[in-house]
Amino acid sequence: MNDCIFCRISEGAIPATLVHADPDIIAFRDIDPQAPTHVLVIPRRHVGSANDLEASDTELVGRLVVVARSIARTEGIAESGYRLVVNTGADGGQSVGHLHLHLLGGRGLAWPPG
Ligand code: AMP
Repeated sequence: MNDCIFCRISEGAIPATLVHADPDIIAFRDIDPQAPTHVLVIPRRHVGSANDLEASDTELVGRLVVVARSIARTEGIAESGYRLVVNTGADGGQSVGHLHLHLLGGRGLAWPPG
């Protein structure tokens, strides 16, 4: 999927500041951070959105969350708290069509979101 920016980051064709990489998952800093820690955790495999997940992806989704939790520890925000967000579709505010988990922390986050 050469036209997918996150696939290209996964391939190394577009630079990003990686904070995690394994055969199935990468995480990198958001180019337009909305909090002191703003990391995107993505599957290397192209999955368009949460709508495209299959039952067989249950382990992958769990691993995305566990990777995010590990990064939260490394970033020093595990105790202060953080938010994991999966924007999905137009009303969800999804702007990149490759499933990604936002890890946001390092400041108080308002609720409800806008
Ligand atoms: P969403 O709006 O939920 O689809 O989130 C997409 C996120 O990807 C936004 O927070 C963007 O700032 C971020 N983003 C877009 N392009 C890049 C890039 N090349 N490197 C890092 N983050 C990016």
